[in-house]
Amino acid sequence: MKNVFKMNTKCPYCECKLDGHFNSKDGNDKKGPKDGDYGFCIKCGEAFTFIKGQATKIDMETIDEEFKVELRRITDAWLKMKAQESVK
Ligand SMILES: [Zn+2]
Repeated sequence: MKNVFKMNTKCPYCECKLDGHFNSKDGNDKKGPKDGDYGFCIKCGEAFTFIKGQATKIDMETIDEEFKVELRRITDAWLKMKAQESVK
């Protein structure tokens, strides 16, 4: 995949290696995640934030309801994808 920023961090939940960051807004990411950007682990289905280039757990108490709804939508889409993969 082109335009994937190479990085070296681990998912703070499942500890799998996260080696690429893809900016979903414009599909072009030459600089990588900034502090406070969000990411999503497609292995375990958890969202995280970035601090100094490292994936870090999100403090759910600090995010607003609108973003919680968005996270639920992302998680639902991920669950649907995993369900479809399991019947292939
Ligand atoms: Zn993970």
